[in-house]
Amino acid sequence: MARRIVIANQKGGVGKTTTAVNLAASLAVMEKNVLIVDCDPQGNASSGLGFYPGDKRENIYSVLFSPKDARKAIYDTGIPFMHILPGTQDLVGAEIELVDKFGREFYIKELLEEVDAEYDFIIIDCPPSLGLLTVNALCAATELLVPLQCEYYALEGIAQLLMTYELVRKRLNPDLDVLGVVLTMYDSRNRLSWQVKNEVRKAFPQHLFEVIIPRNVRLSEAPSFGKPVINYDVKSRGAEAYLALAQEVVRSHTAGKENK
Ligand code: ADP
Ligand code: MG
Repeated sequence: MARRIVIANQKGGVGKTTTAVNLAASLAVMEKNVLIVDCDPQGNASSGLGFYPGDKRENIYSVLFSPKDARKAIYDTGIPFMHILPGTQDLVGAEIELVDKFGREFYIKELLEEVDAEYDFIIIDCPPSLGLLTVNALCAATELLVPLQCEYYALEGIAQLLMTYELVRKRLNPDLDVLGVVLTMYDSRNRLSWQVKNEVRKAFPQHLFEVIIPRNVRLSEAPSFGKPVINYDVKSRGAEAYLALAQEVVRSHTAGKENK
């Protein structure tokens, strides 16, 4: 069974997609078979890997209501060990179409069940909301990873995210655990980053990743080349940080789930 990690935070711009793409690519470097799933209608994870909006190929939306076809929408990324199930703006429609479907929270789960056995990790990128697509992603996953940007309102909204997590776990997906919180865009010269780190450490003593992702311009440049940072500048601090995060994920306490 794959470890299915959902990257969620209803705030935009906190580093979800950057974390999804670069964690996935770093796990692939470790020769883990990885599938990255783009559940965001903005399709940033897809374009960051060279799948552009307007691309008329099969995508997560086109197979969402026919899970047996999941494989039709899965592509090679050109990176060894890494596949993608891309998302497009058509997903905006999915959020609406799902509303009156029976079992509407489980469509992405069903889709991924078709291919689960082929991967060690499935990394799911979410839109910046707690709507039905994010709930679907939470229901499809076994572990939740929350990126938090080191800024003044970092913890704002986290209570709501955790409440959604608790509800999903209680009512819909008892297999979902918190993998951890990862601090992103950390700037060691900035006192605020340091304060946020301490505050988050107090709030999540058990769940804060040791690895902290620094603010690094290479991380923001790489998507425009359609590449994860390790395929763009392997020596950058951003690449190093995500490789270290992947190692921490692999040895994380929930690793036993791989064999569940
Ligand atoms: P989200 O998916 O949560 O909306 P993104 O991953 O798209 O957030 O990040 C928002 C913006 O910040 C993007 O332009 C991205 O390239 C940039 N970014 C993300 N993480 C970093 C980082 N560690 N250093 C520098 N820029 C970053
Ligand atoms: Mg995003």
